[in-house]
Amino acid sequence: MNAVPADPSQIAGVLSTDAHRIDPNIQRKEAIFASQLQHDARTGMPLFAKLELSLTGLCNRKCQFCPRSDASFFPNVNEHLSDALLHGMLDELAEAGWRGTISLSGFGEPLLHPKIREIVRTIHRVLPHARMEMVSNGDRLTVSMARDLFDAGLHVLILSLYDNESQLVKFDALRAEAQLRPDQMLLRVRYKPPEEHHGLTLSNRAGTVDLSYLGIEKLTAPKTHACYYPHYSVFVEYDGTVLLCCNDWAKVSGCGKVGERTLLDIWSSHQMHQVRSALLAGDRSHQPCSGCNIDGTLMGREHAAAWTQHYQATGEVRVN
Ligand code: SF4
Ligand code: SF4
Repeated sequence: MNAVPADPSQIAGVLSTDAHRIDPNIQRKEAIFASQLQHDARTGMPLFAKLELSLTGLCNRKCQFCPRSDASFFPNVNEHLSDALLHGMLDELAEAGWRGTISLSGFGEPLLHPKIREIVRTIHRVLPHARMEMVSNGDRLTVSMARDLFDAGLHVLILSLYDNESQLVKFDALRAEAQLRPDQMLLRVRYKPPEEHHGLTLSNRAGTVDLSYLGIEKLTAPKTHACYYPHYSVFVEYDGTVLLCCNDWAKVSGCGKVGERTLLDIWSSHQMHQVRSALLAGDRSHQPCSGCNIDGTLMGREHAAAWTQHYQATGEVRVN
């Protein structure tokens, strides 16, 4: 029988965090997104480096710090991203020569999508130069599923461990059996006690989750510094709704629907330009940003600079 290690960091590939340190996964992603700065060949507009796909309306957990902890606010919905929506987006990005990162994560548990293997295979076939990552709680993961996902084209699987250290032992063994490297399957410690913020760099998810039990009170006024999320990333919910960012769990920032409009049309819409330029200037007075306590500048600096340059050159919106 495997012994539980005294120190989680003894297991290679563990991303351990505490309340006072920036999650090393953020630094890893920041470097990747910076290297994926790309402009639309037709318009010269900066493109997103990260496309986050929320594949399903389901999650099998209700973590205390997650909006899903309140089922009346964020209920489980047995609906999933359709083939038609996925193919439409991928074909459009292939035509644009897009080479960014697709993150299979969002508001649901991606392994609960009934066609998850097929989705990974399709993304890799249509966009062979894109990076593909998945964030999962690992509850449905088996050795054969892990192997299938990587054989289908997945580059990185990030597992968030919410229970206890026995999960480190379990998933370290699964990773070895699936013949995956620690940099392919990252294990994130998320089971630390509340006083250590559960091991996360926690945010209030744009004001949708009550973190007062951790001493984090609701904002009394919007923060006044920049946020770069809509400069380097775009978020698509399983029904095609495009949101400003992955923190908008109340879904108040709908910018359009894939299926009715193209993703790049929505990305270049006046609504998105207005929000980007406001956020560059530190104006968070609009929903959902007014209630958001996130820093927002840890990733996407290069993209924010590229957008500033773009707006100054085109005069599309005013940049203060
Ligand atoms: S596993 Fe993720 S999506 Fe599900 S409740 Fe926990 S934090 Fe939320
Ligand atoms: S301020 Fe918050 S809600 Fe607004 S775009 Fe940034 S992360 Fe999202």
